[in-house]
Amino acid sequence: MHLKSTGTLGELIDADYGVIAYCDVHDRRFGRCGHSAWLDVEALAVRFGRDHGALASDLVPKLRCRKCGRKEASLRLHPPNAWSRGRRKS
Ligand SMILES: [Zn+2]
Repeated sequence: MHLKSTGTLGELIDADYGVIAYCDVHDRRFGRCGHSAWLDVEALAVRFGRDHGALASDLVPKLRCRKCGRKEASLRLHPPNAWSRGRRKS
């Protein structure tokens, strides 16, 4: 199954896509943060609604890096694969 558009949180869930956020913070003193984490898309959809946009410009302002506390992330979409199949029992 492929995403029909860049879409919404609901479309990501329906297509079983995963999203990883990569922290882009590059600090002169501390170097690159480099933190990355899978987003809990379903939790985001509960919070913001399934119709909320799933673009980086929609989501990044709502995210905060757990390591450095800044809000400069980039998102990468991952099609359904082993990680998502392993999560589901069906
Ligand atoms: Zn960070």
